[in-house]
Amino acid sequence: MVRSWIVVMMLTCSDLVFAGVPVTDRAQDLLFPRAPVQTTAAESYHRELQRLASLGKLDVDKPRLLQIRQICSRLIAQAILLKPAAAHWPWEVHLTSDPGVAAYSMSGGKLLVGSDFIDKYHLNDNELAVALAHEIGHVIAEHVREQISMAAGFEPRVPNRTVNVVDVINSMESDISVFLRLQPLSRLQEMEADDIGIELAARAGVYPAAIISFYTKLARQDGGRSIFDTHGPSSQRVEFIESMADYARPVYAASYKKNVPAYIFMPKYHVNTASRAASIR
Ligand SMILES: [Zn+2]
Repeated sequence: MVRSWIVVMMLTCSDLVFAGVPVTDRAQDLLFPRAPVQTTAAESYHRELQRLASLGKLDVDKPRLLQIRQICSRLIAQAILLKPAAAHWPWEVHLTSDPGVAAYSMSGGKLLVGSDFIDKYHLNDNELAVALAHEIGHVIAEHVREQISMAAGFEPRVPNRTVNVVDVINSMESDISVFLRLQPLSRLQEMEADDIGIELAARAGVYPAAIISFYTKLARQDGGRSIFDTHGPSSQRVEFIESMADYARPVYAASYKKNVPAYIFMPKYHVNTASRAASIR
C-alpha cells in the first residue's frame, strides 16, 4: 500500500462518487476526483525514482528489469480489461536495489519492485507475478483514493464548507486515531487486492500453484518487514489463498487457450518491452 500522499487541492463535500470495484463489485465512496490523486502520486513516485537514481539504486539490473516489465505487461493488459479506464493511465514499472523496498504500487499505475525482495523469497517468474498482480489489484481498485475519501469523511461536514485535502492527508499520516479508524478498510482492501490479483494472474497465464507457493513463502517469513505486514495472521492467509488457488484453476485453464495480450508501456517511460516472446507460463 501507498503510505505517503501529498495532495494540494480543495474540494466540496458534494463531490461524492459511488463506484464498484473490479472482480468483487464492492461499492465504494470516492469523494475525491481521480485526476489529482493520480497526479500527486506520480509526482511523489518520480521524486522517489530521482532519489534512487542519485544513489545508483534504480534500474541497474537491466535483464531483471526487462523480465519484470514483461510480467507486468501481461498483468496490466488483463487489468485494463477489468478496468477500461486504466488503459489511459501511464503505467510505469521500475526496479530498485534499495533493501528497504519490497514492492508497492501508487495510484495511476506506478509500481516499484525491490530486487532484495525477489532474492529474499527466491521468487520465480510466476510467484513474482502473483505479488505484482496483488499490487496492480490495489491500483485498479483505487484503494488509495478510497482511503483519502474515507479519512475526509471523519471530519464534521459543514454546509458550503470546503474540505482541505492537505489536512486530511496530514491526519492520515500523523493522527493515530485516523489510522486506527482506517484499519478495517485497509484490511478489507488487502483481501480485495488478493482477490483481484489472483483473477489477474490466472487470466495472464500464471500457474495457480504459484499462488500457493508464493503465499506459503511469505507465511514462513521470520517476522521481517514485508509488503504483507498488514495482511493479518499468516495461517488465515494461507487457508484463504488455498481456496483462491482452487478458484484460479479454471480461470487459468481458460486463459491457456487464448493468446494472452500484453500491455505496451508508453515510450516516454519505457522502451517497448511487451515482446510476444515474453511468457510466464
Ligand atoms: Zn497489499
